[in-house]
Amino acid sequence: MSTQAQANPVDVKDYARRKIRPEEVEKYLVNGRDFIDPALIERQLADAANPDPGRIRDILAKALEINSLAPPEAAALLNVNDPKALDEMRDVAGRIKRKVYDNRIVTFAPLYVSNLCVNKCVYCGFRADNPAINRRRLEQPEIKAETEVLAGRIGHKRLIAVFGEHPSTDTDYIAETLRTIYAVSVPVRKARGQIRRVNVNAAPLSIADLKTLHEVGIGTFQVFQETYHPETYRRLHPAGTLKADFRWRLYCMHRSMEAGVDDVGIGALFGLYDWRFEVMGLLAHARDLERQFGIGPHTVSFPRIEPAANTPFVDRPRHKVSDADFEKLLLVIRIAIPYTGMILTARENAETRTRLIPHGVTQIDASSRIGIGAYSDRATEQKEKRQQFILGDTRTLDEVIRGLARSGLITSFCTAGYRCGRTGKCIMDLLRSGQEGKFCKLNAILTFREWLDDFASEETRQAGEAVIASEIEEVRRQMPKVFEQFIAGYEKVKNGTRDLYF
Ligand code: SAM
Ligand code: SF4
Repeated sequence: MSTQAQANPVDVKDYARRKIRPEEVEKYLVNGRDFIDPALIERQLADAANPDPGRIRDILAKALEINSLAPPEAAALLNVNDPKALDEMRDVAGRIKRKVYDNRIVTFAPLYVSNLCVNKCVYCGFRADNPAINRRRLEQPEIKAETEVLAGRIGHKRLIAVFGEHPSTDTDYIAETLRTIYAVSVPVRKARGQIRRVNVNAAPLSIADLKTLHEVGIGTFQVFQETYHPETYRRLHPAGTLKADFRWRLYCMHRSMEAGVDDVGIGALFGLYDWRFEVMGLLAHARDLERQFGIGPHTVSFPRIEPAANTPFVDRPRHKVSDADFEKLLLVIRIAIPYTGMILTARENAETRTRLIPHGVTQIDASSRIGIGAYSDRATEQKEKRQQFILGDTRTLDEVIRGLARSGLITSFCTAGYRCGRTGKCIMDLLRSGQEGKFCKLNAILTFREWLDDFASEETRQAGEAVIASEIEEVRRQMPKVFEQFIAGYEKVKNGTRDLYF
């Protein structure tokens, strides 16, 4: 495939004409205007400079009631520099996290399916004009082999399948990939290993394409805007490529909602433009989805730019985000949109992830490999030539879960939500009323039990048992009415029954 794809150059203009549908952008504009107004964002940030401590306290008090913040309030938090106020923000972010998500954390793995790409994003190792990368897409038997490692050896239940943008990896190929992954079932210690939720990170798609993916059971559709600053976007995504179309990308989550894929993941690549502006952009995006469809995004991602092979742009990013600012942006996102899951990827190192998780993170990846075919082909797994960028945290899932358990966090492998219709607006309403938390707590214990029995090392199992014991005790105290039914289910899982959920 690789040589074939390279040998047949793509007519990108024609590809763009076939793929991009202006009418599926224009319908979401308000009086012909985008929900991103760069001048307004700059003004809101400037007006909020040197915020008054009393005002910050009022904003944090409002946030603690689990209310989304208005743009000027978020702008004020972004401008906080006082160490005492920052401590208060850490405290409030952690309390919001525990109130909405308790001590649960979800893990997943990225599955890089193809690095064929027609775009030329200057920061990405996969860009079309980078000769330093070996190109290929996985064929279905290879996808099966990768999934067998992830579901059978490592123990993942959730994947995010990642694709470049190329005619040979179009929607039919993505749909086929999802079918292949869902069909894998491999023997593990007590039962069988399977992937129960496949999310997709791919280029923007049309409503019809997203309907196709909905039919095959896509989990979250994730697309990062990269930068919400139109001028910067134009500079970094050369004209003549599909990705150069800022608006086609900006409204892909609107199309996703319309197609019925209502778990959507937004994100910005931090380091391309001013980090405060990007946070305001992400929040404006969340607000517009809520305004037009009644629900905000399921997740938000905030990756920092990483080194990539033969990619000079990333060696000296003008807007590089320091560790201190990275923490601040995470706190503001957590405080401003309490019902949105937050993903902190293995681009960050283990120390940073361990430190930041308690402040609001809900999902992390582990045992990640980001080369094409790198899970099953262990000999060449960390070869830079197949990778999009370099990873910061290379710990195994077992090591990550052990660390989390030792700090009192339970890893949830629950995927019940989307399989029994608790997605989109339904899940947001349940989260708001506190009901989803109850399902989640029970399902977290059941799925963690499964994982400990099927995959954990002895050391990790011991750390996990302590967490399970304290969780069961909490269920007994907090949910006496369902306790008996829950324990009956728990015993079944202990005896090898799988995929039980409330
Ligand atoms: N091709 C699709 C697209 O661009 O939307 C999806 C796949 S792309 C491989 C996934 C994401 O990786 C991009 O949206 C971008 O934010 C991120 N990325 C690209 N280059 C990166 C780098 N050097 N460091 C960190 N993340 C990067
Ligand atoms: Fe292609 Fe996505 Fe990389 Fe851009 S970020 S070059 S679209 S893989």
